[in-house]
Amino acid sequence: MNLFDPISGTPVILTVDDDTTTRQMIRRNLRTEGYKIIEASTGDQCLELYPQVKPDIILLDAIMPKMDGFECCRQLRVLIENPFVSPVLMITGLDDETSVDRAFSAGAADFVTKPIHWPVLLQRVKRLIQQCRLYQELEAANQELARLAREDSLTGTANRRYMNEYLEKEWERSTNNQQSLGAILCDIDFFKSYNDVYGHLAGDFCLQQVSEAMQGCLQAHKHLLARYGGEEFVILLPEINAVDIVKVAEAVRSTVNDLEIPHKLSAISHHITLSFGAAVMIAQADKSPLALLAAADQALYQAKSAGRNQVVFANT
Ligand code: GH3
Ligand code: MG
Ligand code: MG
Repeated sequence: MNLFDPISGTPVILTVDDDTTTRQMIRRNLRTEGYKIIEASTGDQCLELYPQVKPDIILLDAIMPKMDGFECCRQLRVLIENPFVSPVLMITGLDDETSVDRAFSAGAADFVTKPIHWPVLLQRVKRLIQQCRLYQELEAANQELARLAREDSLTGTANRRYMNEYLEKEWERSTNNQQSLGAILCDIDFFKSYNDVYGHLAGDFCLQQVSEAMQGCLQAHKHLLARYGGEEFVILLPEINAVDIVKVAEAVRSTVNDLEIPHKLSAISHHITLSFGAAVMIAQADKSPLALLAAADQALYQAKSAGRNQVVFANT
């Protein structure tokens, strides 16, 4: 989305009219308001220019040879998808009901009639640009909210709620495609004593370092890393087999191990280590995806009992 001309910061208007004099008049009148004007003389030219210009609004003449404004508007709306981006202000020749109806059903946001009453056009342009800006601010705020709702605020990984949603969806998708789904649960070893020795803030920083290192071992578009609870993380890995999931878990384990974050009270090392439980299942409609997490949890428990800082693969 391009609200402004990125160079001058000025709203950009694409004006489409086959008549040179009208285009000149539009340019003269709108320029005084500080807009940047780009011109096209045909519908085809408008459609060609749109992706490069991404104007704030499009002023479109209804009556043009070859492709008329209604058809051009229809094609623009398909191209742009979002009705609040680059709205079309149609300039119709006649104030008749049919033209007005045709303009709106083609996807125009508003219209003015010829001969153009300039103060009316200027007000409508101004209002459409304001609406467009407000919408874009709202959309950016919504996206930010949606991102925050998915994210764990300390580590920036996905939070447990989002992981659950993702797990449900992936389970269903894997069921339909008869594919496997893998999960790795991992937990920092002796983290309680880490907090006791180094303090809670250092503990928080440690969680951030560990999660960042874990993320670095994963493929962002394929694997989901989420904070499962306090110092416990989960990784979901679609379409994976036993050998590969153990490889991923082992890579994460050794990467965190190699960070060598000092932990003088750990009973098994001089630095921070993690224990892992990994499980793979062929998703089935009559099974809950929670069975996958339960299997990984059981394997994690075994990794802890067997001495920590290791990966155990669950026999499911
Ligand atoms: P184990 O090796 O068996 O996992 O032992 P542990 O000490 O890691 O396990 P336990 O479950 O007894 O302790 C987990 C600790 O993690 C307790 C809590 O203080 C700490 N913790 C949980 N969430 C946070 C957090 O957000 N920040 C910090 N700094 N510490 C946390
Ligand atoms: Mg722990
Ligand atoms: Mg724990």
